[in-house]
Amino acid sequence: MVCPICKKPTNPDLRPFCSKRCADVDLGKWLTGGYAIPAADLHEGDAPENGGRDTGFAKPH
Ligand SMILES: [Zn+2]
Repeated sequence: MVCPICKKPTNPDLRPFCSKRCADVDLGKWLTGGYAIPAADLHEGDAPENGGRDTGFAKPH
């Protein structure tokens, strides 16, 4: 078996990868691909609330 990232022989402790770095590369691919859309959706819903709080903060002054 070889590392799917760099094609070097697999490290038994880090299967199926050869090193921690290659495991991180693979994890990064999953995170950027899987969380991109839900994160954008969350940010959009947070925008109106942030704007309302900003106006209330300016009033007391
Ligand atoms: Zn590798």
